[in-house]
Amino acid sequence: MVFFRSIITLPRIACIAAILISLGSATINVAPASEVWLPVPLPNIEHNKVTLRVAHAINPRFSHMTQQQISILLQEARQVSAEHFGIEIDFGTTEQIAIADLFAMRPDIADDELMEWVYDFKTGGGDTDKLVDDLLARLQRSDSQLEDIYAFARPHLINPPRGATAEGYAEALTDTLLRRLRVWRVLPANDKRSIIDETVFNEWTFWDTLAHGALPYDIVLTNQLVASAEYYGMDVHSALRGGISVGTTSYSRDGPLHNYAFLSTFPFSNDYPPIIQLRGGGRYADDEAARLAGAYLAHEIGHVLLHLGHPFNQSACVMNPAQLLDFRSWRKNLDADSCPLGASAEMEPGAAGLSYNSAWVLP
Ligand SMILES: [Zn+2]
Repeated sequence: MVFFRSIITLPRIACIAAILISLGSATINVAPASEVWLPVPLPNIEHNKVTLRVAHAINPRFSHMTQQQISILLQEARQVSAEHFGIEIDFGTTEQIAIADLFAMRPDIADDELMEWVYDFKTGGGDTDKLVDDLLARLQRSDSQLEDIYAFARPHLINPPRGATAEGYAEALTDTLLRRLRVWRVLPANDKRSIIDETVFNEWTFWDTLAHGALPYDIVLTNQLVASAEYYGMDVHSALRGGISVGTTSYSRDGPLHNYAFLSTFPFSNDYPPIIQLRGGGRYADDEAARLAGAYLAHEIGHVLLHLGHPFNQSACVMNPAQLLDFRSWRKNLDADSCPLGASAEMEPGAAGLSYNSAWVLP
């Protein structure tokens, strides 16, 4: 996902079927005190060739893809990127790193401010009304799409809305978000402790700001489940997934491309019941999981290299986010010939309008 942010608010670029809604005035009065949003420069890709530095960040509490799977993943990403973007990618050698060491590279200069935006579902200190208000503001900003949004969301809600109104859907979406998110505080990891523990490794905001210091990678693959709720930038699809993020493209202070992307392999290679449900019942063997994750990495690469947007419901396009976690259906529909660059406004380079808050970047 990419955060598509307006200049006022933090953008969450939901790379799983986000419905893009620019954030409304309702969020302005709760905006962080220090914000200076700047555009992320579009990378200069010479001769349609690029080298990306890859890390595989492992949390030992979860299973992780083998080196062979990572090779399959990267090969698939390379092939899909060539077909859909006409760009030849060299991934070099993947560097394996412990997730704690990865996060040690992340600047913590703005953590107090960031934490104000994180809904605390771990200790029960979160303000649910604020989540509802944020989702409501996003719905109200997408008037023309509301019927489509309702039709998409309805079958995936845990409890139905009390009425077909923006208020009703904002409440029902928040209810579904929190129920699906809290499951991970109960389900056990390999060490028998809950999958989401007291660390911040699950928090999307921390991944979004990972490269705001000296991160020497352009792509970070991780077996970590990234699932969280924030008071800004949640979208309909994030809510339906219970706050699970598959990937995000975010500003990189030192990266030659000015962006980095992470991709969580957790939704591809774990068969926990909530994951299976969000896949529409699919179970992926090891090779298929690696290939699907690789194709999805190509989606992030489209954000990183070309700042492409999300051509929603144009199922031939790799930049069309997957529905919930149904990567198999998503992959089956891809057809590069039917979705060349420039095929729609969202497929024009620069469409994503990426920006970052310079107040959160390590000087
Ligand atoms: Zn995306």
